[in-house]
Amino acid sequence: MKPFICGNWKMHKTVEEALSLVKELLVILPHTVYEKVDVAVAPSFTNLYPVYQVISGTPVALSAQNVYFEKEGAFTGEVSVDMLKSAGCSYCIVGHSERRRIFGETDEWVNLKVRALKDAGLIPILCVGETLEERESGKTLEVIERQLNSALEGVDIRGADELVVAYEPVWAIGTGKVATPSQAQEVHAFIRQILEGLYKDLAKDIRLLYGGSVKPDNVSGLVKERDIDGALVGGASLKAQDFAAIVINTLEVV
Ligand code: PEP
Repeated sequence: MKPFICGNWKMHKTVEEALSLVKELLVILPHTVYEKVDVAVAPSFTNLYPVYQVISGTPVALSAQNVYFEKEGAFTGEVSVDMLKSAGCSYCIVGHSERRRIFGETDEWVNLKVRALKDAGLIPILCVGETLEERESGKTLEVIERQLNSALEGVDIRGADELVVAYEPVWAIGTGKVATPSQAQEVHAFIRQILEGLYKDLAKDIRLLYGGSVKPDNVSGLVKERDIDGALVGGASLKAQDFAAIVINTLEVV
């Protein structure tokens, strides 16, 4: 399967900084990488369209980090799927643990967002993951199963490329504590199994990303695993050199 590396820039970068990051990335990444690895960046809302103007016509895709599920209306401060589409997005991250933990997003909201994205033809990058407490009390798989089943309730897909799932153990995000390849693989295999229950034959080709302190020096060990098809990268996507090294190191092991 062609791996996918997406950089989640979170709430970083002004317009000028975002433009200089993406321009540097385009210069550093050799054109041949895109034949073997799909690459996307996920800037903040204000940087989506400016970044799109730079990457349009290149193989780098654009992702949003969040969306609201209503079509339009009196929802001050929110952004709709059509707005994301018109700004050039093909993907949108949904259910990131920071949104669940800091902004109180529920499984039900995550499901509404996934549905709204699917209806608009945007590809959700659905994040699931357990906290340290959940892992230590042996609840990892139970949490993953609940998050997946509720996020995907009533969501049909016709092709494996209509959905991306990111396993992001909360204890590994921004902490420098990366899951070992075998810890991650165990959960990825379980995610694949749940997706098989939902989407039958399509499941084997749905891309499953790992996220949580991915760096140039640990990405190869992760993507070598059978069910790890790429990475969702936070901190290390903020420096063009590091992000490019992650893409290149991925390409070397696939
Ligand atoms: C993320 O927030 O999606 C993430 C994986 O962050 P980091 O790489 O910084 O751990």
